[in-house]
Amino acid sequence: MAAWLEDVPKLADSRHSALHVLPGCIAPEPPLELTVPASGRQRRLLPQQYMDGILRCDRSLLAQAITLIESSREADRLLAERIVEDCLPYSGNSIRVGITGVPGAGKSSVIEVLGTHLIREYRQKVAVLAIDPSSQISGGSILGDKTRMGSLASSDMAFIRPSPSRGSLGGVAQRTREAMLLCEAAGYQNILVETVGVGQSETAVHDMVDFFVLITLAGAGDELQGMKRGVMELADVVAVNKADGTNLKAAEKTRAEAQNALHYFPSSPSGWTPHALSCSAQTGKGIAELWNCVLEYTAMTKDNGWLNLARRNQTQKWMQEIIRDGLKQRFESHPAIKRRMESLEHEVLEGRTTSFRAARELLETYSDAKLGGG
Ligand code: GDP
Repeated sequence: MAAWLEDVPKLADSRHSALHVLPGCIAPEPPLELTVPASGRQRRLLPQQYMDGILRCDRSLLAQAITLIESSREADRLLAERIVEDCLPYSGNSIRVGITGVPGAGKSSVIEVLGTHLIREYRQKVAVLAIDPSSQISGGSILGDKTRMGSLASSDMAFIRPSPSRGSLGGVAQRTREAMLLCEAAGYQNILVETVGVGQSETAVHDMVDFFVLITLAGAGDELQGMKRGVMELADVVAVNKADGTNLKAAEKTRAEAQNALHYFPSSPSGWTPHALSCSAQTGKGIAELWNCVLEYTAMTKDNGWLNLARRNQTQKWMQEIIRDGLKQRFESHPAIKRRMESLEHEVLEGRTTSFRAARELLETYSDAKLGGG
């Protein structure tokens, strides 16, 4: 770790912080059902108490409110919805940056150095959120299972939250968006959303941020290592990390290749020309330059109206996703569907009916049940 990372303001009293639970990382609160005391009374607070806590940037209450967002219990979800709604008027004032790259590319190292840079140079607060699809697919976690960003996490100007671990990618992305709104209401001027290049998570993160960074490594030949064309197309900046020591020359070569590759993509409606740069989380090289790109981009797109338009489009898309997820969830949990689903799946597998006919029967069953008041 760079020596200058040690300058970051330290917590005055860690007992007053969620960091107290797990040094180096703000641990998610345990599921609320585990916090029910023997008397059966819940430790839930009133929406206003969460709101007051969030607005004064009480990180423990912020973390608890995010736990409500992530809860699958109906009562928690309702409370969370109310808190998110109340936070809306205070949200939207941050720079939202997505960061992706293959495992090992150095995402968390770059975020730690970048977050520290923002706190030190700009005296601005930083929230780090994560979307880790591996925690849904395999039950494992690429991003969240290690104590990461220890130095950044020890600053009282930072808030670090691992990926929600339950639900579909769509559900996890929705929860992260809501968490982002709460962080904004808590006054975090910079939100960094980290994800890995697995599944569709880059697209999900791209759809919730203003600026998207792809972190990559020096690779052999013209093939940029681990880089999928689709992801490169989303990037506003490609950062070739680990440009230090003996790797410096190779990183510079990859940077030039990436810069060249970026020319072949159609120009962005934002008016921004994507850049490739090299950086090192170890030496700090290129980190200020990376953030300057973000600042340049936000100034330009605020000016030309793109930032506002893109956020409005994201909100509209978000609403449509919530409707789609809600319909799916209601459909799948309806008793008439649950009863029929399994047998129809068997029939499809055994070739006794087609998937099209089975799906249509289930949709009709659902419509009939709804029309009948079910
Ligand atoms: P992530 O999986 O993408 O979050 O990657 P990490 O940040 O965990 O980094 C993976 C490994 O690369 C760790 O051992 C880091 O210490 C190392 N690393 C990260 N950034 C740099 C860098 O700029 N230079 C060098 N030499 N090593 C780095």
